[in-house]
Amino acid sequence: MSRTTVATIHLGALRHNLARIKEMAAPAKVMAVVKADAYGHGLERVARALDGAADAFAVAAQGDGLRLRAAGHRQRIVVLSGPDRAGDIAEMQRLQLDAAIHHESQLQWLADASPARGLLRVWLKVDSGMHRLGFAPERAAEVYARLAAMPGIDPEIGLLTHFSESEEFEGTETPAQILRFSEATAGLSGPRALSNSAGVLGWPEARADWVRTGGLLYGLSVVAGKTGADFGFRPAMTLHTRLVAINHIRRGERIGYNGIWTCPEDMPIGVAAVGYGDGYPRSAVSGTPVLVGDRRVPLVGRVSMDLITLDLRDAPQAKVGDRVTLWGPELPVEDIAAQAGTISYDLTCGMTKRVLFVED
Ligand code: PLP
Repeated sequence: MSRTTVATIHLGALRHNLARIKEMAAPAKVMAVVKADAYGHGLERVARALDGAADAFAVAAQGDGLRLRAAGHRQRIVVLSGPDRAGDIAEMQRLQLDAAIHHESQLQWLADASPARGLLRVWLKVDSGMHRLGFAPERAAEVYARLAAMPGIDPEIGLLTHFSESEEFEGTETPAQILRFSEATAGLSGPRALSNSAGVLGWPEARADWVRTGGLLYGLSVVAGKTGADFGFRPAMTLHTRLVAINHIRRGERIGYNGIWTCPEDMPIGVAAVGYGDGYPRSAVSGTPVLVGDRRVPLVGRVSMDLITLDLRDAPQAKVGDRVTLWGPELPVEDIAAQAGTISYDLTCGMTKRVLFVED
């Protein structure tokens, strides 16, 4: 099968981004967040590129920990949502994965686990305001004491929390979360990890002992109106395809499904081989920028499964076969996400199986 849509992953950008995070967060250590197949960039590929440079990897699912160990990675791997069921604990001990403990049922599974299988490293997760995972702040000391009393638990217990809106640099919620976390964990020993990418950018007081960065590693920003490049990071993915047709369409004709865009004059319409079947967002509106060669042109009409249509009036030299870039260093994915009503992470995570991945 010949596949036209290609995601090029820039390994040098990944390394640059990690080095920049380390510089910004120092002396904190860095957990490279590689969940969701490394935000769509490829788990094994990204881990290989960062091996030796990341202080730890962080994943959402235990299966990703297994994949990393199978690929030969020896550094710490933190499973951010911890064991999902009692049977996970023995596997975490075997694979030496750090567990995030956020719920009463996990404490019971840990208490029932056999210490003979090896010490388990744990992070106690405190809910400082996100209200997703974690123990209420007032329970932190009691849960910590229970963990510390378990024979199978490594005595160095980490302390975690997660921010709900750290990209709001002027907001009051992040300082409130920092305060709740520090009060809840006062007097408890162990490394602390609070910040995600936006935390690293906007809240230096929260860098603590570890940071957990995903987005910035891939050069992605969730700060409104800002790209990763605005903060000195490099996009790690370019998504590109080819122009497969140019049609001359008359004034007043409507383009694509449901004819949501009408030609204001006789004009060339380009057709590029990418669509929501590849992960290009169906919600991208007319006017979303696309590069044909180095010309920026607007998408017009509805994104379909395999194809998009482009207004080529500003690209008179365009010809069938030309390279079409959907996002990358020359066209920030944050801009496309904004046109599609979502965030950049959602787009890079959404690449489908028919996209060909290459590295440079
Ligand atoms: N920590 C936790 C618990 C997360 O769920 C995530 C991602 O959503 C991160 C860290 C990384 O966040 P970001 O990609 O914004 O750096």
